[in-house]
Amino acid sequence: MKTYCDSNAGSQIEPVLWNARESVWIISPWLGKDYAKRLASLSQKGIEVRIITSNVDFNIDSLEILKASENTNLRLMVLDKEKVAFIHAKMYIIDNKYGFSGSANLTYSGLNCNVENLNIAETNEEVQKIRNDFMNLWMTFDGKRMSKEELSSGSSYSIRESLPLSINFEDMDNPDIKGKELVYHPYYFFEFSFRTSVGKSPPVLFENSGFVVLDALTRQIINDNLLGSEINHHVIKTYVLKTENKYGLTIHQPIIRDFREAGELVKEHIIKENTKHYTQQTKRRSYDKIFVPYPNIIRFIKSGFVQVPVWHIEIVESERRHYENVILGASGKKWGEFIYCPECQKKILIDQAIICERCGTKVCHDCIKKKGFIFTTKLCGSCLSKS
Ligand SMILES: [Zn+2]
Ligand SMILES: [Zn+2]
Repeated sequence: MKTYCDSNAGSQIEPVLWNARESVWIISPWLGKDYAKRLASLSQKGIEVRIITSNVDFNIDSLEILKASENTNLRLMVLDKEKVAFIHAKMYIIDNKYGFSGSANLTYSGLNCNVENLNIAETNEEVQKIRNDFMNLWMTFDGKRMSKEELSSGSSYSIRESLPLSINFEDMDNPDIKGKELVYHPYYFFEFSFRTSVGKSPPVLFENSGFVVLDALTRQIINDNLLGSEINHHVIKTYVLKTENKYGLTIHQPIIRDFREAGELVKEHIIKENTKHYTQQTKRRSYDKIFVPYPNIIRFIKSGFVQVPVWHIEIVESERRHYENVILGASGKKWGEFIYCPECQKKILIDQAIICERCGTKVCHDCIKKKGFIFTTKLCGSCLSKS
């Protein structure tokens, strides 16, 4: 992290800001009129502009300008000082590549006259930290924006916090496909490591590292390698998703909205997993001890919030073969399968299905019947009625 402290903060921010190619995220409680105009025109050129600002008198003209040029790329969040909160932070994240935080408002005096202090991110990790802070604030104050109604009403919407979507799943246009739904699941992820030694003669070394996924809906740690690699290996990208009524869309809102809370839950998990008995040897004797990692030795190397797109594709091949594939949206990998029991139409996980020993049909636990006393055969309803 580089710092800047002088009266021309604009010289640091403006060259990248006005040359943005993809996105501009800004928190600035005060917003100058000319800057509002330039942000509006960036958004009209297709650049995603997110602005968090406040409803102070100074901003009246700027807010008018922004509201008048409303478009799908421009997302304005105005916070009421009295009703919500007064944000005093200033942040600039450009193209997910450049990050600034500090005291400079996006106003003429903030950029050109006042002595302002800036922290300038120099590595991707530092950019992501500022970006996460921005996202946290955005999510804290914006519970309603991504409502299901808004997102599935048929037109195009930006879903910016998602993994890239592969809609080229092989059978997407198969005539047997009866339903397609895209579900966004919210997760936090943390890549961690720690290394420490305890005792003296000789010291015992403890170390571990890994990748932890936390379900932002259930607060559970997810032990799923497929999901882990989906999140870990597919870079978070921004894109516009067009639903155009071709498929259903469900966006699950995270219950955990605070990044810090997510981090604490993950640390708790890491501490539990790494608490262990060990033996400390000295010259005279050995001691049985328990190692419990301190929270502050655990380092997060990488962390973030993602909404993982998952396809649910319902396929009706025949009266007796009706199933649903669950496909991870970014990699196109199959994550699971549900079947509809041909006897009772109940939807069950394929792992819970039982195979009829005569015809091979998969049915639910309740619909399999046993035939015979000594040598029992498991039969589906239709095979039982035929026998
Ligand atoms: Zn059944
Ligand atoms: Zn059968």
